[in-house]
Amino acid sequence: MKTTVDILKAAVLPLLSAALCVILLSCGAVEPDAAGTETKAAVTKAETDETDALQTIPEIVTEPATETEEETTEQITTEEKTTAEETTEQITAEETTAPPATETETETEKETAAETADVPDDPLGFKADLSSYEKYLDPEDKDAYLILVNPDHPLGETYKPADLVYIADSREGRKDQLRLYAAKSLEAFIKEARANGCKRITSVSAYRPYNTQKYIFDTDVEKLMQQGYSKEEATAIERKDTAYPGESEHQSGLAVDVLDDDSSLYEFESTYEARWLAENAWKFGFILRYPKDKEEITTYVYEPWHFRYVGRYHAKRIYDMGMCLEEYTEYLANNG
Ligand SMILES: [Zn+2]
Repeated sequence: MKTTVDILKAAVLPLLSAALCVILLSCGAVEPDAAGTETKAAVTKAETDETDALQTIPEIVTEPATETEEETTEQITTEEKTTAEETTEQITAEETTAPPATETETETEKETAAETADVPDDPLGFKADLSSYEKYLDPEDKDAYLILVNPDHPLGETYKPADLVYIADSREGRKDQLRLYAAKSLEAFIKEARANGCKRITSVSAYRPYNTQKYIFDTDVEKLMQQGYSKEEATAIERKDTAYPGESEHQSGLAVDVLDDDSSLYEFESTYEARWLAENAWKFGFILRYPKDKEEITTYVYEPWHFRYVGRYHAKRIYDMGMCLEEYTEYLANNG
């Protein structure tokens, strides 16, 4: 016959052991730890890739960060500084608190579904609600951003756009600027790209002042001269790879380089992200500026990461006609 103590033991012990299991499971925190490790690893990978990118692309890499920051600091107002600081803080906070990938996807799907429900009859089928960006994507003055910049049409030493603003999606550690309409359109472009699975697309280079171009060019020429080339020879070699000061389209404040944080520069071409951006850029007023089959006309090698804002009207026509900007501006000149 069971005593009262036996009955109590029989009833309480399973409860205690079940409670212990629950405590162990919740303290194990396997998921949060794994997620933490994953986030850190991803950040490290991105940092490594940025180093790769910086070493392989002269235009992105050798940019002297301090000089650019000094120059940009002079250009901005106090209000803009605050915005930039806030943006950087937001990005940092988002990256630090990023949930595990599966949760992110679920959340994004939910958000996307909610956003889609709020967008009535969007002719371009955007998944994100971009209605507040529309005036920037399709500017009222449709010809205002069609400027052609290349070695035959340099901007020169003194050109500097008056409406530069900080962009929302610079890679961590960067503070890139574009002209207002290009910056807002890029924000919409990246928002929609992320809603379509390009989750880690960021800008790695945008407005580049004349002085920065000159610094990059002169530094590289100096290095070549140290290898024994004359100044003329070194300049000729450098011009093949790097825009001569005043000739870079980045000085227009309308050109931006975007990359996936998980891909290095030369892996990017074959990624889903590169294909999605190239096919959809026109909807946001951008063109792929240096296409693969136009190298002889643009005089630049294929750059799957370099996009140029022209506004949606012209971007769509350029995309539909399969032209590069040089061909299109010539076509307009000949056809009114
Ligand atoms: Zn570029």
